[in-house]
This record gives sequence, structure tokens and C-alpha cells, in this order.
Amino acid sequence: MLAFAPPMARTNRVAPRSTEEHRMTPRNLTILGATGTIGVNTLDVVARHPDKFRVVALSGLNQIDKLAAQCRQFQPRYAVVLDPDKAVTLQGLLAGSQTEVLVGMEALEFISALPEVDSVMAAIVGAAGLRPALAAARAGKRVLLANKETLVMAGRFFMEAVREHGATLLPIDSEHNAVFQSLPADYNGDPARHGVRRILLTASGGPFRTRAVETLKDVTPEEAVAHPNWVMGKKISVDSASMMNKGLEVIEARWLFNARPEQIEVVIHPQSIVHSMVEYLDGSVLAQLSNPDMRTPIAHSLAYPERVEAGVNWLDLAKLGQLTFEAPDFARFPCLKLAYQALAAGAAAPAVLNAANEVAVAAFLDRRIPYLGIAASLESVLGRLAGMAADSLEDLMVADATARREAESLIAHG
Ligand code: NDP
Ligand code: MG
Repeated sequence: MLAFAPPMARTNRVAPRSTEEHRMTPRNLTILGATGTIGVNTLDVVARHPDKFRVVALSGLNQIDKLAAQCRQFQPRYAVVLDPDKAVTLQGLLAGSQTEVLVGMEALEFISALPEVDSVMAAIVGAAGLRPALAAARAGKRVLLANKETLVMAGRFFMEAVREHGATLLPIDSEHNAVFQSLPADYNGDPARHGVRRILLTASGGPFRTRAVETLKDVTPEEAVAHPNWVMGKKISVDSASMMNKGLEVIEARWLFNARPEQIEVVIHPQSIVHSMVEYLDGSVLAQLSNPDMRTPIAHSLAYPERVEAGVNWLDLAKLGQLTFEAPDFARFPCLKLAYQALAAGAAAPAVLNAANEVAVAAFLDRRIPYLGIAASLESVLGRLAGMAADSLEDLMVADATARREAESLIAHG
């Protein structure tokens, strides 16, 4: 059936289990954004542990052949796309299979809240990921959150939904997963109570860390997406080059760990081995280290609190020899500074920044604006719209749409 219509609710919701039972029961998963880099890495880990994880639903946007191949391999009950024509194509490719194709945003929300699903991997890119992630939180799921834009746009409302509906939030972003692993297991969002002084987010510095600043005006999309350590989707790769990604991560950390902006610091660490750190009042600094491979945080969150193999190469510190650290250069990376400013401004400013950034990055990838035009358009849109209200989710949707229009018009008119 193509039009969205929720089938009858099922009642076999998995109740809280003892550790022993939980070891034996496979976890049922929905993977939002299955065809992206996080989605593919998630399925790679899942395929290594067929006794532990079962795929109930997958979603994609444009890569229909890839989604069909994933459905053939993992046999989910549902596959969701947003475009009705693509749904017809997918249904054709899946003829005779047991997978039902559903269409639209409501269908994404539906597969995020299915009673038989325990865990939802939220790995859609951009603000489009907000509604399904929110649906998973409201259904009390274990939410494996890769989509940082959800927290940047609507951190307060998302965290409220997690609390009110008893959802479990597990960060997939490697830095936040590292912070999560370096915090006490009973961390309750109160840094003072746990003696936490600072959160230290590491950043690789991306492909332009040492490039002559006067040549940044000539950066091409190909250069910007060529990250030295990580293979990622295009949008987050450009965000990493501009360090907007780290800015978004500072805002993400603010909400995930309830830390004040001045408690969150960024340190450049070009090798991407130390994924982030927590500093305690007694001077101890706890860190999580691993090779830069997203399957580590993904496997950690999928299996939490257990540990499973992720297919990742073991860390060979002697071979690495050196780990180095340096302070970020705000003149080279103005987007990072803009993110701190948006966080300080509060209200709708982070949502405005996020929306304008999505538009500017897409325009840069389409070669409609130069690389330096990204920071310039963000600064301008933020200057005009930072004061917009954020008293409700609806307010934030309005701020998001207004910032997109403003950024588009700025780009169109130079
Ligand atoms: P990709 O671009 O590789 O994948 C995005 C996924 O979302 C694809 O499945 C894509 O479908 C789907 N998608 C894109 N736009 C929409 C939309 N408007 N509505 C519904 N689905 C959509 O991104 P990544 O996997 O790299 O990143 C996903 C999220 O995870 C981002 O928020 C990113 O910031 C975060 N993240 C990623 C990391 C990484 O290492 N890649 C690390 C930390 C966080 P299709 O491909 O079929 O078009
Ligand atoms: Mg990250």
C-alpha cells in the first residue's frame, strides 16, 4: 500500500528486562536514513550480529536501488520514502518481498514509533530529521541520535520529550558518544553534582586546518568534502571543513549534557583518535579513544550497555606515535564563532543558524556561492533573525522557514 495508513497497532511491546533476559532478546530496529553513511555503517554492525539485532523498518530519500538492496538483505517489514513516484519504483523493485512500502513524513513518524521497535537510529541529515526523531522520543524509544540538527534546532523541546516519555537517548556523534562514555553511568544532567568542570570536544580541523588563509576564497566543493580522517555525507563534510560541524556539536553538547556554553571547549586534534574528554574538578580528564570509524559509537549505542564487536581495526598507539592538540583559530573558522554566538543569543538563534547553514552549504555544493560565502551569509541571516521567538516548536518551525527564505534571497541577490 502506498498512501500512508498505519496498520493495526501491535501489542508485543518489549517490557523492561533484566540483564540476562536482555542478553537473549534481539533488539528490533528502525533505521532512518538507512542509505546514508551512518545508515550503511549501522547495517554493517547489524549484519555482524544477526542474533542481537533485527531490522523492522528502513528509510531513504533518493537512493532507491540501494534501499531496495538493503531491503532484500535485511527483510524489514516497512521501507519508507518521501516521494510517491520513488515509492512506486521501490515497490516494483521489491515485488514479491515481504516489505511494505510507505510514503511521506507521517510514515517516517509511524516507523519511529512502532510498538515492536526498541531502538530508532535517527540518521537523516538536516532539519528533515527532527519530526521522526521527536516521534521516537515521544514513543519512549531508545533513540540513537546521529541527527545533531534535531538538538540544534529544538534542543529544549526534544530533551523535554525524552524526559516526559521516558525515552533513552544515546549519542551517535563520535564526540558526544565519547563524552557519554567518559561521564559517570548515573550522570543525570547536573555537571556540578558529578564534579564535572568542562567538556572538551575534539575537532580534526578538517581539510583546511593548515591551508593559507588567503587561498580559502578559492576552495572548491571537491576540496571541502575531502575530509582527512572520516568518510561522511556531503553536508557534514562541508560543515567539518568550515568547522560549523563543531559549532553545531557545541550546541548539541549543551543540550545532551545540560552544560553551560562556557563549560564546553573545543580543542583541535588532527589525528581524530581522542574523540572527546570530560574534565573533573580534581583535575582528572577522562577520554574515549578509538580509530576514526563510526562503527564504534554505532555499536556502542546499538548494544548499550553491552559491548559487541564492530568490525573496527584495533588501535595501535605505538604505530600512531603521536597525538597532538592545538587551540582553534576563530579567524580561520568564523562559523565556529557564529555557533557560540547563536548559543549565547539563545531563543531561535541556533535554529536560524542551522537553517541558514543548510541553505548556504547546498548553494556552495551547487557552486552558486564561494566557500567564504557560507560564513558571510550565516552572519548576515543571524544578524537579522537571531531575536526570533522560540516559545514553542511551531515558533522554531517558523524561524527555520524564515531563515531559509532569508538565506535563499541573500544568495540569489548576492
Ligand atoms: P548522508 O547524506 O550520507 O545520509 C543522509 C540520509 O538521510 C540518507 O539516507 C538520505 O537518503 C536521507 N535523507 C536526506 N535528506 C532527507 C530528507 N529531506 N528527508 C528524509 N531523508 C533524507 O548523511 P550522513 O549519514 O553522513 O549523516 C546523517 C546524520 O548524521 C547527519 O545529521 C550528520 O550530521 C550526522 N552525523 C554523521 C556522521 C558521519 O560520520 N557521517 C558523524 C556524526 C553525525 P538518500 O541517500 O537515499 O538520498
Ligand atoms: Mg562529530
